[in-house]
Amino acid sequence: MTLTVETAIKWLHFVNEEIQANKEYLTDLDQAIGDGDHGLNMARGFQEVSLKLNTANYNDLASLFKDVGMTLLSKVGGASGPLYGTAFMRLSMALKDKSKATQSEFSEGLQAALNGLKMRGKAQLGDKTMIDVWEPVVEFLKNHEQVTGKQLADLAKEKMEATKDIEAKKGRAAYLGKRSIGHLDPGAVSSYLLFSSLSRTFSE
Ligand code: ADP
Ligand code: MG
Ligand code: MG
Repeated sequence: MTLTVETAIKWLHFVNEEIQANKEYLTDLDQAIGDGDHGLNMARGFQEVSLKLNTANYNDLASLFKDVGMTLLSKVGGASGPLYGTAFMRLSMALKDKSKATQSEFSEGLQAALNGLKMRGKAQLGDKTMIDVWEPVVEFLKNHEQVTGKQLADLAKEKMEATKDIEAKKGRAAYLGKRSIGHLDPGAVSSYLLFSSLSRTFSE
C-alpha cells in the first residue's frame, strides 16, 4: 500500500463515514465504562476533518495530516482528542515534505504516531485502550511486506475484540477496575474503524 495525498484524503473521508455510522454505538460503549461521550467527540472531530479536507488543497502528506491533527486537537474533547490529535501531528512530522509514502515509510510514520500516543497517555499494551489496537497493527505493518487491507482489518478487529476480556488500567474505565471486564474499549473500537477504513481505502 502506497499512500498518496489522494488516498490519504479518501481514507479520512471513510473514517468520517464509519465514525458517523457508529456514533451511537461508540456512545453506548462509552456509556458502559466511561462517560458516554466518545461517539459525540469522534463524530464532531471527524466531521470537521472531512469539511477541512473538502475545502483545502494539499501538495504533501505532512500538511494534510497536520491539518487533521490540529482539527482533532481543537474539536475533540476528552482524552481521545489530544490522543488522536497527537497521533496525526506525529504522523505529519514523520512524513515531512513527502507527497507519497511507501508502506515502510507509512509504518514508520504510524510508529511515530504510536510513540506520541504512548508518551501522551502513558498507557501500555494490555491496559484496555486504543493502544491495544494501534501497537499490533503498527508492528504488523513494520514486519510484513505488502500487507493487504484485509489482513490489516482482520488484525485490528481481533485486537479490538480482545479488549473485552481485560481490565482497564488507564482512562475513565480504570475507575471501574474489574467491572470494566466484559466491555469493549470505546477507543479501541474507534481505532479499529480508523484501520478498517484504511483497509477500505486500498480495496475500493
Ligand atoms: P474521555 O474518557 O475523556 O471521556 P473519550 O470518551 O473520548 O474521552 O475517549 C475514551 C477512550 O480514550 C478510551 O476508550 C481509551 O481507548 C482512550 N484512552 C483514555 N485514556 C487513555 C490513555 N491514557 N492512553 C491511551 N488511550 C486512552
Ligand atoms: Mg468518554
Ligand atoms: Mg469525556
